[in-house]
Amino acid sequence: MKFDIVTIFPKMVDAPLAEGIVGRAIERKLLEVRVRDLREFTTDRHRVVDDMPFGGGPGMVMKPEPLFRAVAAITAEHGRPGAVVLTSPDGPRLTHATAERLRDLEHVVILCGRYEGVDERVRAHLATEEISIGDYVLSGGELPALVIVDAVARLVPGVVGDEQSVARDTFATGLLDFPQYTRPAAFEGMVVPPVLLSGHHAEIERWRRREALRRTLERRPELIDKATLGPDDRTILNELLERKEGETS
Ligand code: SAH
Repeated sequence: MKFDIVTIFPKMVDAPLAEGIVGRAIERKLLEVRVRDLREFTTDRHRVVDDMPFGGGPGMVMKPEPLFRAVAAITAEHGRPGAVVLTSPDGPRLTHATAERLRDLEHVVILCGRYEGVDERVRAHLATEEISIGDYVLSGGELPALVIVDAVARLVPGVVGDEQSVARDTFATGLLDFPQYTRPAAFEGMVVPPVLLSGHHAEIERWRRREALRRTLERRPELIDKATLGPDDRTILNELLERKEGETS
């Protein structure tokens, strides 16, 4: 899996990429992330990447030429990428499904906007899609690019040590994750559910599944409809729902 991140602040992206799971994946060559300084794709002496908006108004707009040139250079070096993603607060929201789709593309270019955003022709004719990381406005696309790389990297086989832990992550199963505990078993009067200390694997599995269902039902009921559920899950869900009705009536 390869990424090219195009930015005017390469250092802002470099440092986080060197740490943790993503850093290790890059070291082990499971993941390649090339950070491109947008200013290298300017042709003027001052390496200008922005200009005033046509029609007036506050702020600056990112010029189209350097962005088009950057993607052309990446394509010339490494072939046509599977996607050219423009980070943008008004794009479709990043989800687990998006991350899976990008993982399968093998080579993804991410464009980081700054200022008031990018010239509309970049959206219309250069980006193949736009991604937002949430309904708030950040000052640039660098943090969103890192969020996208991190979410996708976790889904590349081998990147997360224990393969199981990705398969069981919140959203991967369609359900939220079950509660986790570690030692000590009792901490300032707060105790770990006894079943987890029982050593009884089948019961632990049942408890975890039940808690995952309970949590999803409480926090994100809309996910239940889309989750893949077995007959046992249906029984647990019915019990949980009955209990809930019992509480409210
Ligand atoms: N004026 C624009 C905001 C520009 S913010 C508007 O109102 O829509 C500058 C850049 O930061 C954007 O071009 C985009 O690349 C990035 N950005 C800001 N918030 C983002 C978000 N929630 N998700 C993804 N990218 C975002």
